[in-house]
Amino acid sequence: MIDIINYDKNNIFAKILEGKIPSKKIFENEYVFAFEDINPQAPIHVLIIPKMPFCSFADFLKRANQDFMSCFFKSFDDISSKLNLVDGYRLITNVGKFGGQEVPHLHFHLLSGKIIGKMVSG
Ligand code: 5GP
Repeated sequence: MIDIINYDKNNIFAKILEGKIPSKKIFENEYVFAFEDINPQAPIHVLIIPKMPFCSFADFLKRANQDFMSCFFKSFDDISSKLNLVDGYRLITNVGKFGGQEVPHLHFHLLSGKIIGKMVSG
């Protein structure tokens, strides 16, 4: 099971942020990095991650300062504008075991390009 209490600086998204593992970049600024998911679940499947070491959304809510939170979320507008998501999109963040989180660095899945369908499977 992944540890979402203690940040693992060797997690795969930390390595992507450091440029040690390649990724297909969609957008980047001082606060955020957005890149294509390696296993897309929709025609558009982008992962949006903060450029700070938060394990999960729960960790982000506890530890991020207001300025960072604001700038981080404001960047989502730049990302959706860049992708021209005029027909909408779904945003998901999985937290911990029950959420189905696999990578212990906060990430939002942005899904679009078709009607995404049911909220949850099964
Ligand atoms: P989670 O289940 O943690 O919410 O989502 C992790 C996501 O990361 C999955 O959708 C998976 O396809 C994606 N992923 C895992 N490893 C890599 C990688 O090395 N590169 C990219 N671009 N995506 C990855």
